[in-house]
Amino acid sequence: MYVYIMCKKNIIYFIFMMMFFVFLNSCEKDIPINFCSFQDDSVKVDSLKINNKVLIIGIDGFRSDALTQEITPFIYEFSQRNVYKNLSHLTEEDTYSGPNWSSILTGVHYNKHNVTDNSFDGSLFEMFPTFFNYIENNVNSINTSSIVNWVPINKKILSIDVDYNTESQISDSLVFIEALNLLLNDDPIKPDILFLHFDELDAAGHNFGFSPNIIEYVETLNNIDLYVDSLVSIIDNKRLFGENWMCILVSDHGGDGYSHGDYNNIKIRETVFIAEHPLQNFKLQHKSNMTDIAPTVLDFLGVSSSRFDCSRDGQSILE
Ligand SMILES: [Zn+2]
Repeated sequence: MYVYIMCKKNIIYFIFMMMFFVFLNSCEKDIPINFCSFQDDSVKVDSLKINNKVLIIGIDGFRSDALTQEITPFIYEFSQRNVYKNLSHLTEEDTYSGPNWSSILTGVHYNKHNVTDNSFDGSLFEMFPTFFNYIENNVNSINTSSIVNWVPINKKILSIDVDYNTESQISDSLVFIEALNLLLNDDPIKPDILFLHFDELDAAGHNFGFSPNIIEYVETLNNIDLYVDSLVSIIDNKRLFGENWMCILVSDHGGDGYSHGDYNNIKIRETVFIAEHPLQNFKLQHKSNMTDIAPTVLDFLGVSSSRFDCSRDGQSILE
């Protein structure tokens, strides 16, 4: 009898261990489940805010201590306006561009969207969509556009989510010209939400060094400052005609030496984030990170989604 009970226990134990082993194995292979996907897919739209407009200027590899009156006279002046400003804006622990632009656009950290390098292999944007996706799937009237120098942002993330995007690699000056065409000539669309990405500062950093003491880095940033000046002047003019724009300027990482791979380096993990609007109150005490941009944009547009609120890691910086 005793032997029989032992055997039975062993059999149960054996079956349990086998099930546990199968479970572990299947966990490794299967796509993870986002329980937020079971939330209501629809969004609520605030009719008072839905005509608001957003310009996002992305500057790759912008070291915070290079934002100075001498190097970036316009951005410096811009940062003194009615803004949320954080020069210690925190990157993902993975300080490559891929994970950080993905977090900026989705509002979730890289352990969710699963972009861990610039290959974008294994990305889970269907499970954790971009803020553009929430808008485009629910509000037809909004025109969205993305113009980027570093083409993986469009090819790997945004091309299916926006009305108009550039599909080949273009220089920063062409990004600027495309943006002028959109904003001044409605060519090819009149943009309500426009995402821009300038990459030549990151290239200057890799080639000559990320530093406010390196002439090539400074000259490139000085040139981008001129682009930002022109673009914000256009937005200021549109405001005079009653359009309610918020301007966001954000970078994906800083840099030190010729690279930006070390999260423990403060010159790399802390970068620039500024959100500007003439009348908006901001949560000035909040310490921002990459996942705060998407909820801020959706909040400004009055677009709310229970699925997004369940998934997101960041928070809106609007009061
Ligand atoms: Zn880089």
